Amino acid sequence: MRKMNLVVIGYGGMGGWHAQHALNSDVVNLRGVYDILPERNALAESRGIHAYASYEDVLADEQVDLITVAIPNDVHESVCVRALEAGKHVICEKPVTLDCASLQRMCAAADKAGRIFSVHQNRRWDVDYLAIKQLAESGEIGEVIRIESRIHGSRGIPSDWRGLKAYGGGMLYDWGIHLIDQVMQIITAPVVSVDCRFDHITNDEVDDGFRLDMTFADGKSAYVEVGTYNFIAMPRLYMRAKDGSALISDWREKCQVVKCNYWHESDVLPVQTAAGLTKTMAPRDDITTTTYTLERPASDVHEYYRNFVKAMAGEEQPLVTHTQMMRVLRVIEVAFESAEKNQVIACNV
Ligand code: NAD
Repeated sequence: MRKMNLVVIGYGGMGGWHAQHALNSDVVNLRGVYDILPERNALAESRGIHAYASYEDVLADEQVDLITVAIPNDVHESVCVRALEAGKHVICEKPVTLDCASLQRMCAAADKAGRIFSVHQNRRWDVDYLAIKQLAESGEIGEVIRIESRIHGSRGIPSDWRGLKAYGGGMLYDWGIHLIDQVMQIITAPVVSVDCRFDHITNDEVDDGFRLDMTFADGKSAYVEVGTYNFIAMPRLYMRAKDGSALISDWREKCQVVKCNYWHESDVLPVQTAAGLTKTMAPRDDITTTTYTLERPASDVHEYYRNFVKAMAGEEQPLVTHTQMMRVLRVIEVAFESAEKNQVIACNV
């Protein structure tokens, strides 16, 4: 199969990543970039990358097969829809757009044009998430009960458009969309309630952190938290299952697992706490449990583009589907409603 000709729209942080990735790709050829800021286009040219003079020029170029949109969140819809109407396949950066009505219009444009349209959920290739997902799917520690997924930083929300509501800023859209998508890849039952609270430590306009609880129709639950003022970080991932627990303390670390071999302990030694003895909270011994560490799974984020290009040729289904995009965005919508009303919202997503 020939390499597909790609143009990246927006040559900022993530557009730069896509352009660089394309230069090393086995499935796409970087045909050029386009940014509304002349200095970004000049930078691309100085690096030997063709910069188009206008978006119209990109759309008029019949050699362009595929467009990746890496611009602020509020303008994803208009730029993606124009590309689809011009007959290009489209990869959009996350969050794909700001609400479900907007996403519906984007999906309708893709369906009408008969083009592949998907969102760059690149964190499906994060090895911490993959370790937990593979462990859950293996059934090794039994049925999953709850997943807790946290990202804690201490540098505040970035001072660019991410701090502004009009651009679709805030941490729920920025990191939440990844973490919610990851959880919904592991727990696949419908989401039946969402409870979300925002932090506004230095930014009143958008959330600079959030805490989100999701319950699922099969009784499982998940907690997703993003913090930008956490000088001590809580563990990245924690999973409780019927026959064990798993923990990834930090995204650089391996997954630790404690598997329960059998529940019954004949002779539990009580532990002394300040206020007295407890058997309930006494640590397990290594007869009734086995403790081990999982190797980090192999992962290659280039698989996203490889799959997308195969989907363009009709050889595979896109890994990130319209239905998945819609479900994740709907949870985000319900989370905004929950935070605004300060209450748990029942739903069926
Ligand atoms: P950025 O501010 O670094 O870059 C955005 C660029 O888009 C700027 O150069 C700006 O001039 C340009 N731009 C704005 N409007 C435009 C338009 N209409 N046409 C052409 N160019 C336009 O932002 P960023 O960090 O690169 O984020 C861009 C997108 O990528 C966002 O949606 C963001 O959420 C996403 N992102 C994804 C990841 C990921 O891991 N998947 C990481 C970072 C950012």
